[in-house]
Amino acid sequence: MMNGATVLTNLKGLLTPDPNSPWKVDRIEDAAIAMAEGRVAWMGRRTDLPLEWSDTPTTDGGGAWALPGFVDPHTHLLFAGDRSGEFNRRLHGVPYAQIASEGGGIRETVRATRAASVQELVELGEARLQTLGSRGVVHIEAKTGYGLELEAESRLLQAYKELKRRGWGLDVTLLPAHDIPQEYAGDAEGYSRIVADAWLPELVRRHPGVASYCDVFIETGVFTVEQGRRVLEAGKRLGLRPRIHADELSWTGGAELAAELRAASADHLMFCSEKGMTAMAAAGVTPILLPTTTLCLGMRDWAPARKMIEAGCQVALASDFNPGSSPCLDPLLVLRLGCLQLRLTFEEALTAMTLHAAKSLGQSDLGHLYPGARGPIALWPINDPLGLVYWVGEPYIPIMTP
Ligand SMILES: [Zn+2]
Repeated sequence: MMNGATVLTNLKGLLTPDPNSPWKVDRIEDAAIAMAEGRVAWMGRRTDLPLEWSDTPTTDGGGAWALPGFVDPHTHLLFAGDRSGEFNRRLHGVPYAQIASEGGGIRETVRATRAASVQELVELGEARLQTLGSRGVVHIEAKTGYGLELEAESRLLQAYKELKRRGWGLDVTLLPAHDIPQEYAGDAEGYSRIVADAWLPELVRRHPGVASYCDVFIETGVFTVEQGRRVLEAGKRLGLRPRIHADELSWTGGAELAAELRAASADHLMFCSEKGMTAMAAAGVTPILLPTTTLCLGMRDWAPARKMIEAGCQVALASDFNPGSSPCLDPLLVLRLGCLQLRLTFEEALTAMTLHAAKSLGQSDLGHLYPGARGPIALWPINDPLGLVYWVGEPYIPIMTP
């Protein structure tokens, strides 16, 4: 028997997406999971456990439901400061445009982030990762993008490098084209050129292997499709796969560009066209929907998740954790809004937050419990996993296996 092997038993059941079938979810009651070297070696009904495992030490699952850990494929993990003051001003009726013209909004976060040391950023990031981990999230995508200048973006990458070294499950995305910094006000064209021609190559040269993806915010008044293509093609030449902030506040053709560039994902998509959906499905682009952002922005335009599924897209869900439009580290809120507002079934929302989220990051051994899957596994102390959504305000906390 292999070292450290164990059979997880006394499980009320397990629920897992089938990695070989886009939307199929297996529900097995009275389940057992055999683990070896941190990976699932066998799973099924306890009474079907193969004889070879019968002498293996067991781990008591405490009568819980076993689910794969969540994967969060869109976060802005590292930023300094918070914007609760601005949030309350907006509740008092002050328009965002006025707050922004006074130097608030994203500029406030950029100022605070530029002033933070690498050490401070690492501490902020680690505390947030601990919170996410305690709520069942085992892996995230994390972006730069609150530096908006070479040295500050470089410090963000250095902080991500240190968090990776400490063992956190992170895929890092370069996003200097998150917004147009004050220094380039009115010159999106010039800024997109310096990002593409100078900053991306320099950031990759300074921190080789830290980032795997490159992203850009394509939106009316921010970057055009042409400027987005310039940045993402520069990233591709450096070995960074594109992801895109697309069609969030208006239709701009971001989903279509994602398909053209074979991006890993197109994210937000509240105003995605039907042509964009078909193109994403054909190109294997994962649409990543961010319902807590729609909630926090007070918008009524929820992303057309059902239409995307009908078009053949493997939809994923993410938190979009950021200080302006989604100050939320709660995966259960994302799951619940996926069902309540995007009208996904429970099984679809679970698949979107596990299997499809992991696939969009190329993490094929996460997001399911089939043999080969990597732990930790989330053990939810709940009568039935449907309760995670149905009991809408309950702060369930899973126990995570090692
Ligand atoms: Zn975002």
